[in-house]
Amino acid sequence: MMPRLEIDLGKIGKNASELTASLGSKGISVMAVTKCVCGSPEIAKVLLDHGANSLGDSRLANIQRMRQSGIDGKFVLIRSPMPGEAEDVVRLADASCNTEKVTLDLLSGYAVKHRKRHGVILMVELGDLREGILPSNVGDMVEYVLELDGIELEGLGANFACIGGIKPDNEKMELLSGLAQEVRDRFGVKISMVSGGNSANYQWISTTENVGLINNLRIGEAILLGSDPLTRSNIPGLFPDAFTLVAEVIELKTKPSKPYGHVFQDVFGRIPHFIDRGMRKRAILAVGEQDVDSYGLRPREDVEVIRASSDIIVVDVTDKTVRLGDQIQFDVNYSALLRAMTSPYVVKVYH
Ligand SMILES: *Cc1c(COP(=O)(O)O)cnc(C)c1O
Repeated sequence: MMPRLEIDLGKIGKNASELTASLGSKGISVMAVTKCVCGSPEIAKVLLDHGANSLGDSRLANIQRMRQSGIDGKFVLIRSPMPGEAEDVVRLADASCNTEKVTLDLLSGYAVKHRKRHGVILMVELGDLREGILPSNVGDMVEYVLELDGIELEGLGANFACIGGIKPDNEKMELLSGLAQEVRDRFGVKISMVSGGNSANYQWISTTENVGLINNLRIGEAILLGSDPLTRSNIPGLFPDAFTLVAEVIELKTKPSKPYGHVFQDVFGRIPHFIDRGMRKRAILAVGEQDVDSYGLRPREDVEVIRASSDIIVVDVTDKTVRLGDQIQFDVNYSALLRAMTSPYVVKVYH
C-alpha cells in the first residue's frame, strides 16, 4: 500500500526511555505530546510504557481517539480550550492549559455539573508570543482560579520556539521559576507542575546546573524524531529515523532539468527557478503535498527532491539505478511527519 509511513515503535520507545530517564535524573517529568502523530493510540501506549507520566495533545479529537482505544493515562489539553468545547474538555481531559477567565468559568461550571475536578495549568507569556498571561497578571489569575469550584490549580507553564522561535534559556527559566515561587509564597498553595516548555528546552536542560522549580517538560519532537527543534540537529543517543515515508515510482524518464516555455506561476502560486543541469534522469513519485510536506523530506538514498505538486513529487535519480514501481524511502522532519500522519491517503504501518 502506497504511499506509506512506516513507524518503528521500538525506536520511539527507546527514544522515550532515554529522554525520560535523563530528564528524570534532573527532577523533570515528561508529558509526551501526541499532536504530531494525531493521537495515534499505538504510539501513545509506547510513550506511557516508556516513562512519560502523562500525554498532552492540542486537539480534543485526538484525546478522544486515545481514550476510546483504551489508553489509560493522564490526558492534558495543551492548546487553550475553545469556549464552545468546554464541556467536552472537562469530560475527556484531566487538565488543560488556560489563559482566559471566560473559559475558566465555563470549565468550572461543567466540572461541577459532571462532578469532576479539572486541572488547570496557567500558561505564561515569556517572549514567544503564543498563548500566555502576562507575568504581571499571574497573581490575579491564580487568585481567580483558586476561587473556582471544580477546578484545581496544577501549575504554571510556558511556550518557546513555537510562534516566535525564542530560545528557552536560563533567564527565561528563572523567570518562570520565580513566578511559581511568588505564587507559592503569596497563596500558600502547592504548585505541582511547572512546565518549562517543549523539545526546544533540550539544550537548556542538558546544560543547566540548576533547574529551579521547573519540574516538567512537554515533549513531542525530541522523542518522535530525536531532534532538537532549536537547530534541528540530532540529539545524541536518539534515533532520528523512527518514521520512514515510502513512495512508489510511477514515471521514469530522462528529460531536460529546466522547464521550457514562458515561466508563470506554479500550482501553489510560486514562480519557479530551475537551474539548467542538462538532461537528467527523473522519477515521478506517487505522493504529493496533500500527503506530506515535500520540503521536509530527506531521501535515504542517492536521489534528490526537485519539486512537488498536490499529488506527485519529482526526484532526480541520475545517480541511482531505479526501476518503475520501485519504492523510494525518506526521513521526515516535523512538518512532513505532521502532514503524513494527518493525510488519510498515507497508510500507516506499525512495526
Ligand atoms: C506541540 C506542543 C508541545 C510539544 O512540542 P515539541 O516541539 O514537539 O516538543 C508542547 N507544548 C505545547 C503547548 C504544544 O503545542
